[in-house]
Amino acid sequence: MKQFRIHTNDLVEVLAGKDKGKKGTVKKILRKNDRVLVEGVNMVIRHTKPNPHLQQPGGRIEKEMPLDISNVGLCCPHCLKTVRVGYRYVEEKGKDGNTKVVKARFCKKCNEIIGQGGKKK
Ligand SMILES: [Zn+2]
Repeated sequence: MKQFRIHTNDLVEVLAGKDKGKKGTVKKILRKNDRVLVEGVNMVIRHTKPNPHLQQPGGRIEKEMPLDISNVGLCCPHCLKTVRVGYRYVEEKGKDGNTKVVKARFCKKCNEIIGQGGKKK
């Protein structure tokens, strides 16, 4: 399985495209086509026609479109900059009290460990 540097609930910055410079939280990772859905970024307005058949009212629907994963950069929650990420093995205490070694991402700028997205400790 491919390992992405970006995980769900990470804060990312858009590096290319019309929303360049915008920051948002990753809502979803579309592994199949290397795309990410970022909250409030790459919004498009869909004009839909009413469809009486499906009882859908027409109108404008705003929705996020996925971005290519290479067009977003991870923001470090410690130094709040878009940074390069490295991997490091750290010791982590599990629920059972045993220490185990896990692979963790770290910020190459401030050297702090970047958490695993939405997972709370
Ligand atoms: Zn940092």
